[in-house]
Amino acid sequence: MALFGRIITKSHHFKTRGIATLGALPETHQMLQKTCRDFADNELKPIASKIDREHFYPKEQIKKMGELGLMAVAIPEKYGGTGLDYVAYAIAMEEISRGCASTGVIMSVNNSLYLGPILQFGSEAQKEQYITPFTNGDKVGCFALSEPGNGSDAGAASTTAKSDGSDWILNGTKSWITNGFESEAAIVLATTDKNLKHKGISAIIVPKPIQGLELGKKEDKLGIRGSSTCSLIFEDCKVPKINLLGQPGLGFKVAMMTLDAGRIGIAAQALGIAQASLEVAAEYAAKRLAFGKPLLKLQTIQNKLAEMAVQLESARLLTWRAAWLKDNHKSYTKEAAMAKLAASEAATFLSHQCIQILGGMGYVSDMPAERFYRDARITEIYEGTSEIQKLVIAGNLIKELGV
Ligand SMILES: Cc1cc2nc3c(=O)[nH]c(=O)nc-3n(C[C@H](O)[C@H](O)[C@H](O)COP(=O)(O)OP(=O)(O)OC[C@H]3O[C@@H](n4cnc5c(N)ncnc54)[C@H](O)[C@@H]3O)c2cc1C
Repeated sequence: MALFGRIITKSHHFKTRGIATLGALPETHQMLQKTCRDFADNELKPIASKIDREHFYPKEQIKKMGELGLMAVAIPEKYGGTGLDYVAYAIAMEEISRGCASTGVIMSVNNSLYLGPILQFGSEAQKEQYITPFTNGDKVGCFALSEPGNGSDAGAASTTAKSDGSDWILNGTKSWITNGFESEAAIVLATTDKNLKHKGISAIIVPKPIQGLELGKKEDKLGIRGSSTCSLIFEDCKVPKINLLGQPGLGFKVAMMTLDAGRIGIAAQALGIAQASLEVAAEYAAKRLAFGKPLLKLQTIQNKLAEMAVQLESARLLTWRAAWLKDNHKSYTKEAAMAKLAASEAATFLSHQCIQILGGMGYVSDMPAERFYRDARITEIYEGTSEIQKLVIAGNLIKELGV
């Protein structure tokens, strides 16, 4: 409980947060929420605009988040993690992303896309080497599934890993890799047996830097600009065979299960952006006078705030439900897809409405609304686009209904 102990001792008195739901959470989760909220208000919000404008990687803040236990929320304490559950992770992700969505995605990739699959499929030796040093904010990991030729069609991996004695030899390019620049290890999905198509894909832990791996250019993105995104280019990159995660051919399953969990994190990131949009819009509407009274008194503005709150709360409940199902070892693929779909669309809707309520001030970078709008957009794309979430939801629904 060492890290969580630190979270508790960092907590101050509890302050209600207006529109958000708090009552249903256990006390530990409320304390975590409060700690993360304070951290976001004090350490992230003041620099979120700089992070965005300057493509600034918040190294110092990631280190502090590691010390608070936020870089490995649902990883057992014996591997250096905080030992909390996925509901806690969703809560922490929302609060951090409410302060800065770039920081949110750096945290999310380390927690769910990198540490998650090693915890689930890794050997004890892999856990010691590739989990523990990545829990305290000193090091971050990344997850490399997408390629220039295939994103949604993840089973068509063209990156290969050829057996060579006690090594794998990797060749090919992975694209769009979050934390690509800073990460010190990557989970790479590569084809070890082409004849088996997606059943011939394997997951391999690649330490970074390593000979035979070059990084592509840093992508200049619309939003989440403080997180790095780049290609990983493998040319005869030699990785020890013991770095295989699970069995040969298990990679596609590893990727799909990793994305199920990751979608809860991205849903929570979207909730954070949506919550921030609602707060900024309401605060502005309370102060801005039009026709002799605050905007907040106008029924049209109240209607907007009501619609925003309903979308946000619905998405939050879906997200917490998906996390709860995961924590209770129940099937949650459909629910995680529903949560991501609803929360990402809520983030886009709320940030759009936030700009509208701010009028001209919503359109300039003096206020954070335009950043929220840009940051929100990616949540509908990565870890499966909204179109892919609908395929996942419908596929599961059809099975459940037996039609
Ligand atoms: C900032 C950023 C960070 C990222 N981080 C990572 C990362 O860390 N690791 C990683 O592996 N990847 C990462 N990605 C990649 C991301 O997951 C993919 O961009 C995403 O899955 C979509 O793939 P694509 O871009 O190839 O689009 P495509 O697959 O080409 O899709 C293009 C359009 O066609 C639609 N479409 C495709 N197939 C179907 C279908 N069957 N039915 C209906 N519609 C369909 C899509 O919904 C989309 O609208 C990141 C991307 C970005 C932009």
